[in-house]
Amino acid sequence: MPRLYFDANATTPPHPEAVEAVRSAMAEDWANPTSTHREGQRARFRLEEARREIAASLGVEPGELVFCASATEALHLLTRGLQAALGDRPAAVFPGEHSACLNPLRDWSRLAWLPELPPDCATVVQMAANNETGLLYTMPAVPDAVRIKDCCQAWGKVPVDLSDCDAAVFSGHKVGGPRGAALLWMRPGLPWEIVMEGPQERRRRGGTEDLPAILGLAAAVRHLPERGARNAALAPLRDAFEAEITAWNRGFGVIGRDLPRLPNTSCMLFRGRSGEALQVALDLAGFAVSTGSACHSGSVKPSHAITTLGYSLEDARSVLRFSLLPDALPGEVEALAAALKRLT
Ligand code: PLP
Repeated sequence: MPRLYFDANATTPPHPEAVEAVRSAMAEDWANPTSTHREGQRARFRLEEARREIAASLGVEPGELVFCASATEALHLLTRGLQAALGDRPAAVFPGEHSACLNPLRDWSRLAWLPELPPDCATVVQMAANNETGLLYTMPAVPDAVRIKDCCQAWGKVPVDLSDCDAAVFSGHKVGGPRGAALLWMRPGLPWEIVMEGPQERRRRGGTEDLPAILGLAAAVRHLPERGARNAALAPLRDAFEAEITAWNRGFGVIGRDLPRLPNTSCMLFRGRSGEALQVALDLAGFAVSTGSACHSGSVKPSHAITTLGYSLEDARSVLRFSLLPDALPGEVEALAAALKRLT
């Protein structure tokens, strides 16, 4: 039987058109978009064309988008640049955030944990959807604070609303784009200082643009409407899978089952079992799943995204995350359920 991949929240296979866009850009559009000769100007044209197309799909202005290599980089640029501009005022963040949000905030002199909001709060960082549980979050209303939205997991799975935030980040490899292209969106006039000096990206992110990756992302973005529709249609399949496993063993549960969450994600608690051992057994049986955030795999540290919801360390060690690709088939999910029953 071919291997089955249930780890879409970690990364997704690139769309065939994204692969072709990367290949052809490496063969033909390899020039430096900053160069003033004809080759460079052709690359510049392709770059700006991709920016316009992606901006239109997000409903923002092209000049508001900065191409970065990853969402982790975009979050670092954003928060470091805000910190430099805003000085000593506190930042607020949910403790269950992705480490890409938490790490660049660690050296803010004052950091508050949401839902606590300090009176002079300068910035709030909030993920639209959690990578491990799939839970959806709304942006807290904080007057006078810069509101940053991490859209990495929401993009392409649920509608993304940018009206309640001032800046946002998006990761290309979560939506069928290649690694190496991500987006930073900033509302004009944001108090922000340059972190990575260089003439590119209107001086907001130095470094020669990765045109092949950016063109690959633009190709993936062209398919976002159908991707969103396919992801939305996954919820009944995911729910049936959860119902089958929990009915089979009532000790097994679903984290956030009755809360608003991503349609493709199932975060299950196999109380009394080791999530790690189960993940290895499933891997050997042909199923790629995750014990939690992929960034934590390989480390035995239980996931903070689970413990901050009130679960014990022991429970957090018994969690598996299944995240379906948009084209997941009922038979594949049934095979996963059967394997889980065999192995637990
Ligand atoms: N934020 C969230 C919610 C994520 O799930 C991820 C990736 O796992 C990131 C940020 C980091 O994205 P990238 O891999 O582009 O750095």
